Amino acid sequence: MRTLIIHAGATGYASDAVFQFQRYLLEAGDECLFRQLGETWDDDEALANAERFDLVVLSGGDYEVSRLLAAVADRGLTACVFPSGPINLFFASLGCAAEPFALAHACREGRTVSADLGKISWQDASGRSWRQSFSLMAGTGFDAELMRAGASNRHAMGQMAYFMAALSNPQPPVVRFTIELDDETIERDGIACLVANTAMIQGDIEIVPDCRLDDGLLDVIVLETPDAVGLLKPVLFGFLDPSGKNLGRPQIESFKAHHVRVRASKDVPMQVDGEPLDGEVRGFEARVVPSAVRLIVDTLSPYFTGTEAESEADRASLPRHP
Ligand SMILES: [Mg+2]
Repeated sequence: MRTLIIHAGATGYASDAVFQFQRYLLEAGDECLFRQLGETWDDDEALANAERFDLVVLSGGDYEVSRLLAAVADRGLTACVFPSGPINLFFASLGCAAEPFALAHACREGRTVSADLGKISWQDASGRSWRQSFSLMAGTGFDAELMRAGASNRHAMGQMAYFMAALSNPQPPVVRFTIELDDETIERDGIACLVANTAMIQGDIEIVPDCRLDDGLLDVIVLETPDAVGLLKPVLFGFLDPSGKNLGRPQIESFKAHHVRVRASKDVPMQVDGEPLDGEVRGFEARVVPSAVRLIVDTLSPYFTGTEAESEADRASLPRHP
């Protein structure tokens, strides 16, 4: 097997795990190229000659993984996502075991699934148009405010940075959102409007139930609570019921669509995959790219489509952890 490992996780607390993964992955006759990215990098440089390999491993946190996933999708390559960042929500959404040995095993088994990605476009204050891929969530309003406030603490504090940022801003502005879904237009007042490829947030909480990476749809989510104290309720419900299937989510409404256009009644901050943008926007447009990328999964993943027997056989064949 020929593997390209692209490692962009130099700052992650788990950054050594990828070296263990590489050791577990390699067998006699294998080739493996380990490409360490610097602080800034270019997609073409990161994926140079990637088509010569059987598998590309994307090792990093959400920002790096999202960027690399879009580049991998454009090239039609198969990838394994390896969680090396301070926050790894995309990996958590795939639901594979976060363990180097198990991931190396999954790569050798070579079971893959197709995952969707999203594309989002917006105009900045000067009227310039921007367009970007996303793998997690993008949106406008209080969520972007949180990302901005939490950004400086993120590497040190990981997901707690966002909860602390939420508590430090008790009264985010309420905005009227005009939301054009595939075949209907709705209006809602809320503190944020998001589009999600996966609705998992910090703490492995799914803010809406049944949001899937493989249904060819984006989830459009409106946080309708008028204050951050109200936001604590869904977060608390999230801890009690991470999948959202039993308790639901108070003050959160969601819709599914292939294509969505969102207009806000005032300028609002925006984030794409947890990265806050400079300046504010008046809206955005997003669409799903169905089955954009093929990804390695193990038999624990909710996206694994094999049988229970297959999954048991797989687990039995795993050698004891060294
Ligand atoms: Mg979906």
